[in-house]
Parts: sequence; C-alpha cells; structure tokens
Amino acid sequence: MLVRIQPGAFSFYMIKIDEIYMSEAIKEAEKAAGEDEVPVGCVIVQDRKIIARGHNQVERLRDPTAHAEMIALTSAASHLRSKWLNRARAYVTIEPCSMCAGALVLARIEKLVYGADDPKAGACGSITNIVNNSKLNHRIKVKKGILEAECGSLLKEYFRNKRRKAAAI
Ligand SMILES: [Zn+2]
Repeated sequence: MLVRIQPGAFSFYMIKIDEIYMSEAIKEAEKAAGEDEVPVGCVIVQDRKIIARGHNQVERLRDPTAHAEMIALTSAASHLRSKWLNRARAYVTIEPCSMCAGALVLARIEKLVYGADDPKAGACGSITNIVNNSKLNHRIKVKKGILEAECGSLLKEYFRNKRRKAAAI
C-alpha cells in the first residue's frame, strides 16, 4: 500500500495511513465473520496509535447495541478515561447506522473514516445524516471509500452464505 509521488526531481514513498488503519478494522470484521456475526469492524486511533478495537457481537451477547463501533467507543473512552474522544478517529468497515452515528457524535469523535456505504441503514449520508447535522452540537469530518471493495465484499459474502444455508434447510 505504497504510493509513489514525485514532487519535482525527487521521488519518495508515502504510506497511505488510512488504508493501514482500515485494514485493521477489516481484521476485526473478519473476527465477527468467524463468529457468525454480521462482519463489521472498527478501530479507534489517536496520536497514530490504535487505542481501541471492536467487532460486531450482537448474536453472541444477544444485545442489539453490540455493534463494532459501540464496543470500540466504550473501550476507547475507558482507555482515555474521558467521555469525549475529540482527538480520535474512528475507522469502520461499513457506514455506521443511526445508533452508532449518534454515539460517534456524542463522543465528539474528530473524524470518521469508513469503507463501504450501507444503503439500507447507513446514517452518514445514505438514509439520513447524523454525523453532519446542523441541529446537533457536533459535526464529524467524514472520509469514505477506503478499501471499499474489501469492506463491502466481506458483508456480501456473509449474506450470500446465510441465504445458501437457509435454502439448504
Ligand atoms: Zn451501528
């Protein structure tokens, strides 16, 4: 994941930092897939360090709020001993839902980077936009489309397998 850029006579390599952190979020999503959970993963980064990780655990915990982002946010706040994460960035494989987008706003996350859009439940522009709502007291910078194909294909594969299993019953 190195990109060559050529400013003038010099050439050097620039590491694409967002891709590196997103690949860590993908590892989390793969953990969820291995546990037969909807594969969504999240890492939270501050000062170039991953301070928290989370993957979807709704089935295992029988908890509808146990989304990757919620688990990572709770862990990050505990790590920083702060309810606000205003210097932290969240990397999520899929566009956060309305609950998670709301939690990211409450945590005052500085920036959200996500992989693939979720046209059915995404609340960062798809069905609504909670992270950039002028009526709320915090708005989050958003960058999307990072490793989009990898993030999206994990989810597609999961649902394809689910349908195949259901058809076999
Ligand atoms: Zn969510």
